[in-house]
Amino acid sequence: MNEFLPWHAEPWRMLIERLRQGRLPHALLLCGPEGIGKDHFARLLVQTMLCETPRPDDGQPCGICRGCLLNAAGSHPDSRVVGLLEDKKIIGVDQIRELREYLGLKSHYAGHRTVIISPAEKMNTQAANSLLKTLEEPPARSLLILVASHPGQLPATVRSRCQRVTFSLPSSDTAQRWLSEQTGPHQDPALLLSLAGGAPLAALEIARSGKMDQRLALFEDFEKLACGQCSPVALAGAWLKFETQETLYWMRDWLTDMIRLKSATQPPTLINPDVRQRLQNMAAMLDLKTLYQHLDRVTEAARLATGQINAQLLMEDVLIAWQAHLPGKGKIPRHG
Ligand SMILES: [Zn+2]
Repeated sequence: MNEFLPWHAEPWRMLIERLRQGRLPHALLLCGPEGIGKDHFARLLVQTMLCETPRPDDGQPCGICRGCLLNAAGSHPDSRVVGLLEDKKIIGVDQIRELREYLGLKSHYAGHRTVIISPAEKMNTQAANSLLKTLEEPPARSLLILVASHPGQLPATVRSRCQRVTFSLPSSDTAQRWLSEQTGPHQDPALLLSLAGGAPLAALEIARSGKMDQRLALFEDFEKLACGQCSPVALAGAWLKFETQETLYWMRDWLTDMIRLKSATQPPTLINPDVRQRLQNMAAMLDLKTLYQHLDRVTEAARLATGQINAQLLMEDVLIAWQAHLPGKGKIPRHG
């Protein structure tokens, strides 16, 4: 996806203007919800800074100069991206030290040197402290772009040295129109966006990854469990093939919808409108207090799932507790 995202127009215009006036700060912090294209924006901005002939009208990269071609090949010597290494949950100090060395060099093409750090909030304390030295004395003609969906997790010292650019969710009209163009006619853009919390790139990812089918299969299992037709332990095992946190997020959304259905006097707007009746049936078996307790439990489990945990045990706890409150409980032995 190379195109310009329509909801980025305003921050883009603002930064291009500053760039042309030579007033672009040394460090930017791009923040806002996940799945709205902050990384995409960062890459496009880098491309434009390294482009030899950006388009005069909108400041976008020309796409054909040496800088653009090197960028497209991912081999521009004046551009670096620092992210999570495979199987790592943090950005470590070695990655930032290496970056500091790179920034100490002269640019290859006498232009800017650019760095993207994403997700920046994943830097550990040592890494953040090391970066702070660079932010305090930024090399000339360098641009650091920090991308963070949870900027509050960054040290205040780092945040205060970056110019913050905040991205918001696009309007649902804009998002639906864009998503329909990407997915074609066989998908329901409104449902996809609802499941993705209104974030268009996250919605596109759901559409393209086959997660819609996965979600419905999980939901069916969840219903079976509610009716006592399968064991929580067996299910926790079967679900290991899915990403644990994501499964918990689906569950969180089902519970949220059940609470809405249970407490609303008017038919409420749901995250999962396609399974409204089935959620209603499940909600009818439980009282509101129990649903809130489960929601708390699932939210906490989703938080724990980001750390070093035993996914099977975590999921067992959640599913055993879920089944224990339902009328169908105990029909299947726990280790059956
Ligand atoms: Zn170019």
